[in-house]
Amino acid sequence: MAWTGSDSLHSSSSSPASFSPGSLCADSLESERLWMARLLRRAERVGDEGEIPVAAVVLDGSGRAIGWGVNRRERDQDPLGHAELQALTQAARLRQDWRFNRCTLLVTLEPCPMCAGALVQARMGRVVFAAADPKRGALGGCLNLALDASAHHAMAVLGGIEGPAAKEQLERWFRRRRRQAGRSPGSGKPAVPAPTD
Ligand SMILES: [Zn+2]
Repeated sequence: MAWTGSDSLHSSSSSPASFSPGSLCADSLESERLWMARLLRRAERVGDEGEIPVAAVVLDGSGRAIGWGVNRRERDQDPLGHAELQALTQAARLRQDWRFNRCTLLVTLEPCPMCAGALVQARMGRVVFAAADPKRGALGGCLNLALDASAHHAMAVLGGIEGPAAKEQLERWFRRRRRQAGRSPGSGKPAVPAPTD
């Protein structure tokens, strides 16, 4: 999860950030679309609870879900509370294995540098994301950790699966948040100056 502003996505949400043919076939793409649609429904629910709407799932080599995650950063006040890390942790506990070479992680937003780094460290076989994040995404957006010299294994990456729907969901969430902020300017947490760098 990397999105922190409604202006982060402009034009490339439906374009694959990078593409590896890997084990792709029509069936797997259709299956991934179905999984992504499911993730978007989960993301919608966490969005209703005040979190930026992002959800993730890890599938094992047989296509079974072994770890789920949603953005919980606000709820837990945890900077590590990104959907991808939640899903990874749950899957690792279930499998009692930190290596994910034959697994796929699907997530509704291009992973941030923290999550992309974790996915590389976990040796994730394949990552599929929906909306690209040109400003903060780390799998082809602002940088590509899958292709970095520090990446010690080949991680296939595919972006843009249900990308327009995910982008629309995020934009709608930020519009709603701005409206709510406009209605109650004096409520909520103290304003913190935006970083200038
Ligand atoms: Zn993240």
